[in-house]
Amino acid sequence: MKYLDEFQDPALARRLLDEIRSTVTRPWALMEVCGGQTHTIIRHGIDQLLPDQVELIHGPGCPVCVTPLEVIDKALEIASRPEVIFCSFGDMLRVPGTGRDLFRVRGEGGDVRVVYSPLDALRIARENPGREVVFFGIGFETTAPPNAMTVYQARRLGIRNFSLLVSHVRVPPAIEAIMRSPSCRVQGFLAAGHVCSVMGTGEYPELAARHRVPIVVTGFEPLDILEGVRRTVLQLERGEHTVDNAYARAVRPEGNPAALAMLEDVFEVTDRAWRGIGVIPRSGWRLSPRYREFDAEHRFSVTGITTREPAECRSGEVLQGLLKPHECEAFGGPCTPRNPLGATMVSSEGACAAYYLYRRLDLPAAVPRAASGAEPDPAPDPVPDPAPQAVPAAASTTSLEASPVA
Ligand code: SF4
Repeated sequence: MKYLDEFQDPALARRLLDEIRSTVTRPWALMEVCGGQTHTIIRHGIDQLLPDQVELIHGPGCPVCVTPLEVIDKALEIASRPEVIFCSFGDMLRVPGTGRDLFRVRGEGGDVRVVYSPLDALRIARENPGREVVFFGIGFETTAPPNAMTVYQARRLGIRNFSLLVSHVRVPPAIEAIMRSPSCRVQGFLAAGHVCSVMGTGEYPELAARHRVPIVVTGFEPLDILEGVRRTVLQLERGEHTVDNAYARAVRPEGNPAALAMLEDVFEVTDRAWRGIGVIPRSGWRLSPRYREFDAEHRFSVTGITTREPAECRSGEVLQGLLKPHECEAFGGPCTPRNPLGATMVSSEGACAAYYLYRRLDLPAAVPRAASGAEPDPAPDPVPDPAPQAVPAAASTTSLEASPVA
């Protein structure tokens, strides 16, 4: 496919790997921020192709995974109300709240609908003037602009039965929090290219200088990842710590002015809790006072929520890069995509799901897994697990070198 195959070329991948091997002289730990990058890395075995000195640590950039349990529980409560049509992207429906998920709410009679755009939810609101339509607005800087535009449109068109349950988060404060953590091992970042295509790169130079870490804006195809790693390692070996844009085909330093203007109009920066991590100052958005009437939390008084995370789930450590998914005792045993204990096993961008999907079940875990063993639970279930990807055995973790990338 034009503009895609070029970024999956095995010969070019080998050349980049050779350059990385010839550059690296000592161990370095890099964090890829985005869950989409994590999936590319695990799917193509890039972490296993890199020299042993280069470790990739998976970051918290999975929007579904970091949506706090309290917000999920509020969504469940609102979606249960008879007057509400609750609209969401599909990947939120299986995210476990305290004791149930949105699928369960739908099974119990709640009107929960999967939509493909927030504008679909706005259309549903116009078609159902007697109902309250709520859209679950989660995610990073990439999903915030369309959600902002939808609220802007609702106000412009006078659609009052629409509201947004907001849980938007921002990447730069998360990088700041990671670097401030006493247990941080990260020495360089592959920043999320799509986030920077919206926001630009202006927030990163100060972070790079303050923490003396290179930050390389990186794309999502295998060659993008390898080029991001190559540039980061080069900086580390030279003792540099600058912001470098390795995704120039999509990212301009100033970002997307129209999207930024919409964000500025509709949202304001606020402190946000991240699931498994805790509150990070100024790491999110909420609706600004001008649009507060469209805030579902403001419209529906939801009280009495008591959250409870499964004790065995260690997704907070996974999201902070302190633990690899296969090192969790529940991975592949009690916890599978069919029976997820944490959001990182549900989301299409979750690190635990990536390890499960791309056959990392066979990796030796740092700690013994739970007694139920490493094999997925074969018990029948109405929601099937996604099948692990059918890559050739020899290429299951190193597809770039072994064959043309699928
Ligand atoms: S494998 Fe499951 S239980 Fe373990 S951290 Fe991941 S989501 Fe949580």
